Amino acid sequence: MNKKNKEGQTLMESLKFHDKLLMIPGPTNIHPRVLKAMSTPIISMTDKQFFKVMGEIQEGVRYLMKTKNHWTMVLSGTGTSAMEASICNLLEPGRRLMSLVSGYWGERVANMAERMNIDTIRVRSRKMGMPFMLHEIEDALKINRPDVLYVCHGDSSTGLLQPLEGIGNLCRKYDCILLVDGVVSLGSAPLNMDQLNIDVLYSAGQKALSGPPGVAPISLNDRAVEKIRTRKTSVPSFYMDLTLVARSWGIVEHGKFPYHYTPAINTLFGLREAIAMVIEEGIDQLVRRHQKSQILFESMLQQMGLSFYINQANHRLSAIISVLVPNDIDAVRVMRYLDEEHKILIGGPLLVDSNVPKFWRIGFLGTNANPKSISRTCQALSKALSEQRALKSRL
Ligand SMILES: *Cc1c(COP(=O)(O)O)cnc(C)c1O
Repeated sequence: MNKKNKEGQTLMESLKFHDKLLMIPGPTNIHPRVLKAMSTPIISMTDKQFFKVMGEIQEGVRYLMKTKNHWTMVLSGTGTSAMEASICNLLEPGRRLMSLVSGYWGERVANMAERMNIDTIRVRSRKMGMPFMLHEIEDALKINRPDVLYVCHGDSSTGLLQPLEGIGNLCRKYDCILLVDGVVSLGSAPLNMDQLNIDVLYSAGQKALSGPPGVAPISLNDRAVEKIRTRKTSVPSFYMDLTLVARSWGIVEHGKFPYHYTPAINTLFGLREAIAMVIEEGIDQLVRRHQKSQILFESMLQQMGLSFYINQANHRLSAIISVLVPNDIDAVRVMRYLDEEHKILIGGPLLVDSNVPKFWRIGFLGTNANPKSISRTCQALSKALSEQRALKSRL
């Protein structure tokens, strides 16, 4: 065999991985039904059959988000693409973004806006992982008068659930568009887009919906669409121009689906099946399963003597728990042990901030919001802690 063949040798072997339990902030394990749907033979995006699929997915996303918005679609891109699309469509130089920063994502969105020369204001919570109070948000809106307010509903970097009640009404009062990141919270926390007066809401496939990564549902109400219509400059990204995406989803001209780009067709098949599974279970039931899982998980962790980064129980996400690393424990070694010995992955820190204590981010998203995944994780974690402590006491 010549050298050339040898180099590509391992590519000739089909992929085979250890099946791991993904107790991380995403992606979560995908149900075989969803994987199977993804292997459906491809059809063209110009095929009538695909238009039907797009219509079904739109209906599904409206159901998940509890909205009637006409402009409801799915981007072929990750959650971050929906974040970036929102910023570059709703804003332009001369307009102002106010980003609520209580974790990593508020900072990311501010960074994006600055790259587009958008006037960007960061409003920081009293402490990382602390939710904003309504009066704090109102004060900041009054002073800064932004065009768009960014709020991360479920913050996977800290485990914080930011209450949304009342923010939508404030945004109307101060003539501002409310942009909500529901990547983690859609499916794991109560979220009613229309009732909360959210103007733009986006999510992603791979979190509480247990779908594939690479697709991002997004919905815009009339206020948001109007904001885009009255831009002075064109959207700086062709790919992310939401008017073009909306067109391709048959939204702008009824029954017409003009080509914009080739969507992630098979990934959308997977998302369609993941949404179908949520519809079967019921969105409210899915949220309740996450909430029940949280209660179980927290009590098991507390029994092990562990505590949480977010103090107040009602501020904790029912999808990702930030568990403080005990002083005598090496966090990275625990993660390696869980991976190597138990085939379980948990998340490490995402925030790089010396004021923030060390914590693991343990996810129980979608398929893993169940007692079996949770007990298996707790048992392994308990072993990891006791083995590390035993080793230390022997030294
Ligand atoms: C994961 C996540 C994102 C980013 O999603 P990607 O699909 O990784 O781009 C955005 N916001 C929140 C809150 C997330 O947890």
